[in-house]
Amino acid sequence: MINILVTGGTGFIGSHTCVELLEKGYEVVVLDNLCNSKESAIDRIKKITGKNLKFYKADLLDIEAVDKVFSENKIDAVIHFAGLKAVGESVEKPLEYYENNLGGTFNLIKTMKKYNVNKFVFSSSATVYGMDNNVPYTEDMPTSATNPYGYTKVMIEQILKDITVADKKLSIVALRYFNPIGAHESGLIGEDPHGIPNNLVPYVAQVALGRLDALRIFGNDYDTPDGTGIRDYIHVTDLAVGHLAALEYADKNVGFQPINLGTGKGTSVLEVVKAYEKACGREIKFNITERRAGDIAVSYAETTLAKKLLGWEAKRDIDKMCADSWNFTINNTEGM
Ligand code: NAD
Ligand code: UDP
Repeated sequence: MINILVTGGTGFIGSHTCVELLEKGYEVVVLDNLCNSKESAIDRIKKITGKNLKFYKADLLDIEAVDKVFSENKIDAVIHFAGLKAVGESVEKPLEYYENNLGGTFNLIKTMKKYNVNKFVFSSSATVYGMDNNVPYTEDMPTSATNPYGYTKVMIEQILKDITVADKKLSIVALRYFNPIGAHESGLIGEDPHGIPNNLVPYVAQVALGRLDALRIFGNDYDTPDGTGIRDYIHVTDLAVGHLAALEYADKNVGFQPINLGTGKGTSVLEVVKAYEKACGREIKFNITERRAGDIAVSYAETTLAKKLLGWEAKRDIDKMCADSWNFTINNTEGM
């Protein structure tokens, strides 16, 4: 296994994974339509690693463009990050989400089949655990969703499972990410959201910068020690490293395997605020507001399967995640 196609490779998690792949000696081909990222990510990946990678600006919905990537490169395995990911937007534009996330995956898999590529790592999400399971989440729990974005992950997982039943050569790992935050240590790549961020840490970063007045904490009446929501935040570099472990697993096994990538540790919104204040040396102003619709109180991973199957576990703590987020934010005030 040498040549890895990374769809969505200029995005947040994809770019960090490209860095780890290149540093481990893989050859990398990136396919991205830049709908939520910039080509400058490629230059920054090159700068961090001192290595070259190939970039195709292409849309997964354009099957001829996807075919071109496979015909021009001998691809050994695919890591599939490309997709739309904003929960709120998915409620407003469900058709766009289903078309892009499912349609893109169909074109990719069809083309893989044509070129006899059988190893596939998919970006799934802890969102597939829905509202009804109890923490810690284990991979054998029933999956469900509360919004179109979540349903795209549930549906794609089902489709991937079905195709591995029909084609015994296929090896597919669905990595269920918990809450990826932080940035590369270099400060060169990180999360670069358009407009006002929806997620907690990018929002806190903008408050720390002085671009937004105050964080709105969505509820402090949850059944948690300080009343605010608890999540399993994971450093994006730890997450990226997990993809290399998943590739090695896919190289040696066949079938469909979902695996959680989290730390197994929950952190509350107030604890994140405190850790970020420590990282940036500034006060993070906040107000307590109503709960956000669709939010659950607590989410964190059971991580034993990742340890057992991948030999992988997260290493970086919440202080490191906030320090790296701040380092990226302060060095990229005009974006990437
Ligand atoms: P991102 O938006 O930074 O990266 C996704 C990339 O996919 C972008 O660069 C975008 O331009 C590209 N893309 C989207 N549709 C495309 C298409 N049709 N053709 C080609 N490129 C396309 O997001 P991210 O945070 O890096 O997330 C990567 C994956 O991980 C996504 O599938 C997301 O759903 C999943 N995920 C993310 C999180 C998170 O909190 N960031 C959590 C769980 C799962
Ligand atoms: N959150 C918040 N204010 C914000 C954004 C998020 O209080 O502006 C809370 C949210 O209610 C949840 C946690 O922070 O408890 C993580 O939210 P995020 O959107 O980052 O991740 P997700 O809800 O998808 O796990």
